[in-house]
Amino acid sequence: MATIGIDLGTTNSCMATVEGGKTVVIPNAEGERTTPSVVAFSKDGERLVGNVACRQAAMNAGRTFASVKRHMGTDWRADVDGKRYTPQELSAMVLRKMRQDAEAYLGTSVTDAVITVPAYFNDMQRQATKDAGRIAGLNVLRIINEPTAAALAYGLDNGTPQKVMVYDLGGGTFDVSIIEIGEGVIEVLATAGDNHLGGDDFDERVADHLLQEFKRASGVDVRHDPAALQRVREAAREAKRDLSAMASTRVNLPFLAQGSAGPVHLDVELTRSAFENMTRDLVERTTGPVQQALMDAGIAASELGQVLLVGGSTRMPAVQAHVRALTGKEPSSSINPDECVAAGAAVQGSTLSNASLGIVPAGGDILLLDVIPLSLSIETVGGVATRLIERNTTLPVHYSQVFSTAAAFQTSVEVRVLQGERPMAADNKVIGNFRLKGIKRAPAGVPQIEVTFDIDANGILTVSAKDLDTGKEQSITITDTERMSDAEIEAAIRDAEQYAAQDQLRRDDLAVREEAQRLLADVDRALGTAGKQLDKEEKKAIKADEAALRKLLDARPARPIFGKKGKDVAQDASAAAGSDTAALRAAMERLRQSSAHARDVADAQ
Ligand code: AMP
Repeated sequence: MATIGIDLGTTNSCMATVEGGKTVVIPNAEGERTTPSVVAFSKDGERLVGNVACRQAAMNAGRTFASVKRHMGTDWRADVDGKRYTPQELSAMVLRKMRQDAEAYLGTSVTDAVITVPAYFNDMQRQATKDAGRIAGLNVLRIINEPTAAALAYGLDNGTPQKVMVYDLGGGTFDVSIIEIGEGVIEVLATAGDNHLGGDDFDERVADHLLQEFKRASGVDVRHDPAALQRVREAAREAKRDLSAMASTRVNLPFLAQGSAGPVHLDVELTRSAFENMTRDLVERTTGPVQQALMDAGIAASELGQVLLVGGSTRMPAVQAHVRALTGKEPSSSINPDECVAAGAAVQGSTLSNASLGIVPAGGDILLLDVIPLSLSIETVGGVATRLIERNTTLPVHYSQVFSTAAAFQTSVEVRVLQGERPMAADNKVIGNFRLKGIKRAPAGVPQIEVTFDIDANGILTVSAKDLDTGKEQSITITDTERMSDAEIEAAIRDAEQYAAQDQLRRDDLAVREEAQRLLADVDRALGTAGKQLDKEEKKAIKADEAALRKLLDARPARPIFGKKGKDVAQDASAAAGSDTAALRAAMERLRQSSAHARDVADAQ
């Protein structure tokens, strides 16, 4: 029985295995080394996967599904003849074909597999990927990160400890990761990317150019002719690929359309420099994520040991030149960029299955460590997101913190699990919630409730809450379909950066308000206990200061109200919040001074 590694890609998938200590890419039944991740349902209900699905895509667009990976872990569904397919079911169709093709090629049954996912995939997306494998009849030994797999394919785990950048430009997505390779450990330090940037965008630019040229020369617009459009798109992709190796290419599509004077043909000469001019901005869009990843990892490009190129689109000379300019390093592309992730997954699969047989390879067993893409918190009093696990924390991780109740005799607590970078719960995404019941009746602050976050090596999160007094425990594994999409993750990070300053003000404001409430309660208590020993004037002064402070607290809601105009108004409002916080602080200081004597007297009693 063989173990395979599968790179389940957005546009293409690839599989490999280790044979006699060497990784071998397994070709599909059509003899190709990668399989388009495309699924289609023909009119008579037949399921088509891979190249056959691609070929009929233009004629059967409504029943053809590509880039399903973008929907992993979301509630997106494909509607076909009244049946709704989940992203994992569609992905399972691709995986099933790959498994069957591998079995035919290897002449043995294949069940054990390692599947790769982008490093930024959250646990819901990882879970969905694992489920897809299971639906396809695979026993998924491990879900590993694509950049980590690339490093394994290059054998970097057996070399010098170093930091490595993996620059992955595929068909539909761009990911950049910084990983650290240590003694027997590969750790993802940071990831960034653009979920909607890849080779498809380059194809589209070329196709647009060809369509324009055709219209200019023949006067015929074929944008609304699906069959002609499909031919132009395929030719555009081919021309793009040619231009990775040649300085110019000729696109020739005879009988593309019917003109007024008979059939018309497309015949266009395209040079590499023209191609590079029309796609320069696409290449430049990778700059931001590269800089972001370096910044998140806290290193300069000069500290990188190596730069690995992954994804078919890194074959473009302009992309390689750009990476060179950005990092000052000559990027490595000695392993086929379409295949290196699958090869690394196969290496990991072989290590895992050998380990289960008690065989430890000479280089040692490599332990893979991943990071979580966004911070995890729970909602606490005042709508605050109390952070338990910081973004980019290495997995697996286990963390506990003890919380208490906010109200007297509270017998249950709701644990709302949040994902995101913002300090207020409402600004983050709720990814799960549950209620711990049966807490022993006690005054506020007395019960001890231990909340634990556990994220396993596959990135799957379990949250539990335990009443340390009664031992009652409740837990959930986060698997609801409401998890964040990639776009939401990116938006959450961007959002957090944009609003960081405002958030700080809101957090300060909230802390000051809580402190003021505590001070008022303390002064009330002092007046109750020591009131008789204070003279009238002193009491009057304290009461006046208390009233002034209460008035300030009541004067505005706990959160600044943001106007309709967006950013400008919001910034004004938070600036106002800042000055209000200063006023609150001043009133508290006055009350502290006027009540100091009273509180001392009360404390002495
Ligand atoms: P991947 O998803 O990693 O297989 O990448 C597929 C993308 O790489 C597609 O957009 C292909 O058109 C593109 N690609 C493959 N080979 C080349 C090449 N020689 N030059 C430019 N792009 C290529």
